[in-house]
Amino acid sequence: MSVSEPGNTPAPAVTAEGEAFPSAPRRLQYVDMDAPGPGQSVAIAPGVRWARIPLPLDLNHINVWLMETDDGCIVVDTGMAASIGKDAWENIERDYFSQRPLRAVFTTHIHPDHIGLAAWLQERFSVPVLMSRRTHELSRAMWGGEGRSLLSEAEQFFQSHGVTDETQIRAMFRPERFARMTSGMPTVERFVADEEVLRWGVGEWTALETDGHAEGHLCLSNPTLRLLISGDQVLPTISSNISFMFGHGDPNPLGSFLSSLQRLRALSEDTLVLPAHGVPFRGLRQRVDDLTGHHLEQLDKLAALCTEPKVAMDVLPFMFRRELKDMHLFLALGEALAHLEYLVHAGRVRREWRAGLINYITL
Ligand SMILES: [Zn+2]
Repeated sequence: MSVSEPGNTPAPAVTAEGEAFPSAPRRLQYVDMDAPGPGQSVAIAPGVRWARIPLPLDLNHINVWLMETDDGCIVVDTGMAASIGKDAWENIERDYFSQRPLRAVFTTHIHPDHIGLAAWLQERFSVPVLMSRRTHELSRAMWGGEGRSLLSEAEQFFQSHGVTDETQIRAMFRPERFARMTSGMPTVERFVADEEVLRWGVGEWTALETDGHAEGHLCLSNPTLRLLISGDQVLPTISSNISFMFGHGDPNPLGSFLSSLQRLRALSEDTLVLPAHGVPFRGLRQRVDDLTGHHLEQLDKLAALCTEPKVAMDVLPFMFRRELKDMHLFLALGEALAHLEYLVHAGRVRREWRAGLINYITL
């Protein structure tokens, strides 16, 4: 296949949560209602309300879900530790928790826009917080300062993949950033496991562990109401960031992500997807197919590029159109490596050290 030059490709821009990658119009059927304003909520399904918490980021909101139970409600995801997020929750408290008291907080995964206000909500309402065991392990490691001990490992990792600028290297990985974006570590008494069934008021919700974007990521499926709370696993206009990183993470996160997508594809075709960002939609299978196709295209592009040995930094201009630095460079490099490592696992590319750099070479 031919390889386009950087600048000519319609490669998408990278954002904090991933790349802009909408499906073509009419592939997805969005719900016909306005998104709730900050701290407002609207009914989206029987016993389920859609609320929005603003974020101090390019990606300016997260959707959270308020689920009725017999004696109150449970919320899914929380927003980031920031005053605009807390203000929004105070509105929800006045308008909704006053009628339906908060009973528990569930977080889909470790990222600060999802887990960030869990400890704050726990303290304010004296409620349990639920998450997967892996999400808890990872967040405790970040909170416990293990992140800082990863700094030298991070530096070596970035250098070996072709990042040469020392200032840039230091700006890419800042473990203290996680602590700043979260309100502390919530106490978690019980972990939610894959396939566990949660009986919360409106029917039964099955937790589905969907790795790739974040280890320990849980979606919640309600087959009776044909609802899927998809977290960041399936978003309507963003291809979620998939990163291969230093530390002891998933050796093939893109492989995990693609198989997680297939697991969700098996759900009922008319499932209403409740994503963490964007507008709820039907068309889960189409979206899974579009996201999968996008990754397969990127894989082919990289396999073609690596007929000449490449380090990860070399391939970024072919994958992303935006100028990359700091956090965006961190995410983009992770995404490029997730694709290159997938190709290694698939036996299409090999890894080779050359002059202190890890090169990827198509077989
Ligand atoms: Zn995320």
